[in-house]
Amino acid sequence: MANSANGSGSTQMTEQEMMTHLGNALDKMAHEVRICLFAGPDPDAVFSQAARQALKAFRQISSKIRLEEYAPDHQLSTEWQITAFPTMVFQPDRFAIRWNGAPVGEEGRSLVEMLFLLGFDNSNLSDQSRKMMADLDGPRNLKVFVSPTCPYCPQQSINAVKAAVERPDRVSLEIIDIQANPRLAEEYEAHSVPQTFADDVLIGKGAQSEELFIQSMIKYEEQRVFIPDIDAAEIETDLVIVGGGPAGLTAGIYAKRAGLETALVEKGMLGGQVATTPLVENYPGFTSVGGKSLVDIMVNHALEYVTIFQGEEVVAIKPGNAPDDPIEVTTSRRKFSTKAVLLATGANHRHLGVPGENRLSGRGVSYCATCDGPLFKGKKVLMVGGGNSAVTEALYLHHMGVEVTLVHRRNNLRAQDHLSKNLFETGIPVLWNTEIKEIRGEARVTSVVLTNTRSKEITEIPADGVFISIGYEPSVALARQIGVELTEEGYIRRDDRHRTNIPGIYSGGDVEGGYKQIVTAAGQGSEAAMAIFEDLINPYWKEAAAV
Ligand code: NAP
Repeated sequence: MANSANGSGSTQMTEQEMMTHLGNALDKMAHEVRICLFAGPDPDAVFSQAARQALKAFRQISSKIRLEEYAPDHQLSTEWQITAFPTMVFQPDRFAIRWNGAPVGEEGRSLVEMLFLLGFDNSNLSDQSRKMMADLDGPRNLKVFVSPTCPYCPQQSINAVKAAVERPDRVSLEIIDIQANPRLAEEYEAHSVPQTFADDVLIGKGAQSEELFIQSMIKYEEQRVFIPDIDAAEIETDLVIVGGGPAGLTAGIYAKRAGLETALVEKGMLGGQVATTPLVENYPGFTSVGGKSLVDIMVNHALEYVTIFQGEEVVAIKPGNAPDDPIEVTTSRRKFSTKAVLLATGANHRHLGVPGENRLSGRGVSYCATCDGPLFKGKKVLMVGGGNSAVTEALYLHHMGVEVTLVHRRNNLRAQDHLSKNLFETGIPVLWNTEIKEIRGEARVTSVVLTNTRSKEITEIPADGVFISIGYEPSVALARQIGVELTEEGYIRRDDRHRTNIPGIYSGGDVEGGYKQIVTAAGQGSEAAMAIFEDLINPYWKEAAAV
């Protein structure tokens, strides 16, 4: 370490000075921190020795560190079920935090930060994280696998310590050094660090931001997008985008970059249909990418600019009396006053409308292969439809080990050649000229009644599931509510600048009909945002009124 004692004239602190500073800071902590070290007595137990030395160094610099050492056969070791040595137990009267290994190398940073969190009895979580932690509904036992040579590990260990300090009633934590505990690391297949488990469910590979960590822990699933919660009951803005699919997300990026204050409201899942598409192979820049991964990239990009209000539904849109009046957008949580609204509401899954379909929905009938496919591994299912979606999803199910048969009402597919070829090559059976007449089963789907459209023959075949992928109906309920004109096919009618018949109300994406590709939706979203920007600077309704 560079120091001033070597005659270099450097102003950097010596190690001794740093320890003194650290000791002074630790002395200012509100509480003493009790550390119980369970260490192997054997002098060759290198990790025990390292842990002992590190902790003793801290005890020497601060009176606020209380160190107690116990031998592996001590009664407390049995009582606390300590099975790995060394184990450090921190502030046992208040928290459930233990650390199997030695706080050396990069992990020294974790120890310092942890001591302050414990000594001030304050998790230091952000307001958003605190809010999420308040809603934690059950206990979580966290395991964070780390290594002293990993520079990313302290961030993840500290996320977990913060959670344990914030909710000692719910969260217990074990930090596990994979070098000191190779067998446990093997058991959890923690071959890279940091790796985090909640109740033995993998919730994070790599270091996460604090909010993503908390969200992953709560949801028992690694999260990649965090959307901050906003309380405001009334918000004034330039543009409200309704819908968080590719069109809405792209419009948000363009509008905000043009200088418009923009809010995006999405009642369900961000990404729209893309989020449930198993694999996307025609979005430029990605030869092959999972739909959800692409959505995560898009959402994180949009979040750089736009405020997203997820999980809230737009229930009413009230245009002003005059075109220049603000438009009032009411959601399930608040009101927006805005100059323009972009309807990027997309489309919903079309239903077959046959007996049994609604009753058995979620009990064998599914509209989402990516969501429900894994439940049908090794089982027999039908995939209904002949378009790109049905074929992509049939291939996905097949590769997942589901016994899938495609059912199509005609004798040739609507899907692109490339996909059709793939389907035939995999040998997925196809029932041509066949329609589903009824889906049968009591608690779950057990069989399906089919009609051959040519011979009119009716057959009943056993099936564990029916996946329906027969296209989409545009989501135009809001458009209808405010009197936006629709086309004969039921899509929003708009001009080449995405203006609807109501000044200030625009559309973009699948709700406008057309090719319904991710790339076209994104294109429509960007066009609409630019048109809105130009119209707000130079309102076309004023020009029209002046003529
Ligand atoms: P789609 O292209 O409209 O195809 C719907 C399929 O379902 C058609 O084969 C249709 O049969 C059939 N169908 C419709 N109503 C039916 C009914 N009542 N009973 C039985 N079958 C019925 O829908 P999609 O496949 O969901 O795709 C929607 C849009 O997204 C399309 O524009 C598509 O190109 C796009 N997309 C693209 C990709 C990609 O590029 N990789 C992937 C997914 C989706 P008919 O053929 O007889 O009309």
